[in-house]
Amino acid sequence: MNIAIDGPAGAGKSSIAKIVAKKLSFIYLDTGAMYRTTAYYFLKNGLNPSDKELVESKCDDINIEIKYEDGAQQVYLNGENVSTEIRNEEVGNNASVVAAYGKVREKLVSLQQSIAKSNDVIMDGRDIGTVVLPDAELKIYLTASSKERASRRFKELTEKGVACDFDKIEQDIIARDEQDMNREISPLKQADDAVLVDSSYMTIDEVVNRILELTEERR
Ligand code: C5P
Repeated sequence: MNIAIDGPAGAGKSSIAKIVAKKLSFIYLDTGAMYRTTAYYFLKNGLNPSDKELVESKCDDINIEIKYEDGAQQVYLNGENVSTEIRNEEVGNNASVVAAYGKVREKLVSLQQSIAKSNDVIMDGRDIGTVVLPDAELKIYLTASSKERASRRFKELTEKGVACDFDKIEQDIIARDEQDMNREISPLKQADDAVLVDSSYMTIDEVVNRILELTEERR
């Protein structure tokens, strides 16, 4: 069985998908990590991620592998574990830039589909229900207001002791959504057969339970 979760940045997709995966004994695949790893390759090597021609010409030099260690997804870039390095705002914003390029998507979508073929997976991203797993048994479009998403992010960073500005976080979230929803190839949108879940006024447990109920209905 495959479950697809799409939605804008900061909607809680990964936190929720991780819990659901554990409860169902499915593999959780965070596809955003693959776009982040691609962007990180360019940043790390001092190359401009906004140069489409350059990015597409380097695609074959980038080997991304997904492994599971103690149940947690780890991402390897050319043999190096970069799971921690890809988790910052700069990498996230540049991931959204390289994710608009056809060659990058082609390569990552085929990797994602091959993982889903041989496992029960819950996969989150932007185009999972529309492009990667069009036949997924369950599709969720998880969203929340930009204020709520920014406030969750602000809380998370503040708790980690990272200095941040609420308005800047909200502006970044809105800009990234704009970019992801308006690109030509595989823009972020709700699949026709996806169930809309607005988590603005829901707790994590409530969202998890809703997805578990929907999964039972479709098994
Ligand atoms: O989900 P996350 O914030 O890690 O994703 C980073 C960026 O990668 C997104 O803003 C989006 O541009 C891109 N992405 C995508 N398709 C996916 C997953 C992520 O285009 N399936």
